[in-house]
Amino acid sequence: MATITEGYLDHKIFGIVSETAAELGVRAFVIGGYVRDCFLGRANDDIDIVVEGRGIELAEAVGAKVRSKVSVFRNFGTAMLRYQGIEVEFVGARKESYHRESRNPIVEDGSLEEDQLRRDFTINAMAFSLQKEDFGALVDPFGGIRDLAAGIIRTPCDPEVTFSDDPLRMLRAVRFAAKLSTPEHTFDIVPEAMAAMRRMAPRMEILSKERIAEELNKTLLCDTPSRGFRLMDEGGLLPYVLPELQALKGVETMDGKGHKENFSHTLQVLDNVAAVDGGKLWLRWAALLHDIGKPRSKRFVPGQGWTFHGHNVIGAKMVPGIFKSLKMTQGDEMKYVQKLVDLHLRPIALVDEEVTDSAVRRLLFDAGNDIDDLMTLCNADITSKNPVKVARIRANFELVKRKMAEVEQKDEIRNFKNPIDGAYVMDLFGIPPCQEIGILKEAVKNAILDGEIGNNFAEADALMRRKAAEIGLHPVK
Ligand code: ATP
Ligand code: MG
Repeated sequence: MATITEGYLDHKIFGIVSETAAELGVRAFVIGGYVRDCFLGRANDDIDIVVEGRGIELAEAVGAKVRSKVSVFRNFGTAMLRYQGIEVEFVGARKESYHRESRNPIVEDGSLEEDQLRRDFTINAMAFSLQKEDFGALVDPFGGIRDLAAGIIRTPCDPEVTFSDDPLRMLRAVRFAAKLSTPEHTFDIVPEAMAAMRRMAPRMEILSKERIAEELNKTLLCDTPSRGFRLMDEGGLLPYVLPELQALKGVETMDGKGHKENFSHTLQVLDNVAAVDGGKLWLRWAALLHDIGKPRSKRFVPGQGWTFHGHNVIGAKMVPGIFKSLKMTQGDEMKYVQKLVDLHLRPIALVDEEVTDSAVRRLLFDAGNDIDDLMTLCNADITSKNPVKVARIRANFELVKRKMAEVEQKDEIRNFKNPIDGAYVMDLFGIPPCQEIGILKEAVKNAILDGEIGNNFAEADALMRRKAAEIGLHPVK
């Protein structure tokens, strides 16, 4: 007898889909993530409906009933509508077969069973019936419920075939292991699937960069993203995903001296950021890439040990290329990541030296409105195992933060705008646009950042006039 699940299909939409499917004479089921998340007690506003018949037709009939706009994607045979805060996607049940030579499967109409067989994991292949006679019955042909309870990610078919057919499933396995794991209940990929992953990793070459980037983003947004990246490493996927990250692995030893293992360190920093940032994707990218320049800057200095001088600058230069290789944006988000990678040592360098007002002002100026994120990253970067050292750094860090607040209140550097503008200078001295204007403005900026003058027009103007006289410029009025 089928298990009838109660409470999971209370939302009005399920009754409406059920009724409409009956009218059209087709069978419809809720499938995939929504079913899985019901049993895990996780909220999910994305509902996938699979129809034995035409998915688009059912979507349009439901859309007409609830007066919602239906978006149709004919190429994929899918349709989507929004209703009372949830997103419902409709697809016809399909049977898929793949050919070795081609990335694209041959797709034919199929039954629910055939559709479940082409799904990635047992826990993602469960369905709830929407038929009147057994409304809510669980259809679980591969033991998804058992695997959910055991915390197991397993493919319904031979994992090697599953992964070879669509290599994205390897990244999805990793992502679900990271996403579904909680401190009380971890999810692991079964050993056979891990082994298949290591063999099939080179198949990743056929994936589009956009699909890879999307999975990476979703992995980064998990509560403990390190788990995903560790599994990518164990499964041999890293070289195909982010070879630069792979290069952080390992420790070299010279004269008995080793250095920090930069891959583990990076993942620790990433988790530290994720624990406090409330889901900031680009800050997490900055954490992932903050030490990416280390392999290229690594030197062994006899008598001193390993150094990574300038790794922040090298890393910042690598960021656009890494984003480009994943076909990700070159816009503001990339520039933000680049800036954080570049500046990630600055707050901590302040801590090691004397915290002068001018150093704090310069940092505020360079970081601008991203200063708080930079401080979050910098705090997360303290991963030393030596409690005395950590306590000392954190105490100094608090000092830097207090100093920043003070300076910010006094001088408002964060949104620094030069009190002297170019038009004013041209007008005052009767000069056309020229190099001198830049020189004078720069002198004003530096004087303010160094604390020689206050951040106001009167003091800036006086200083600018003095500097102008030195280079032979005199007011015409
Ligand atoms: P999420 O909460 O991340 O959206 P989900 O399980 O809903 O999780 P989707 O990517 O929205 O994941 O996909 C919906 C369903 O479609 C999955 O549960 C799975 O059954 C199936 N699916 C998605 N992508 C694949 C794939 N590449 N291969 C096989 N089945 C897939
Ligand atoms: Mg989904």
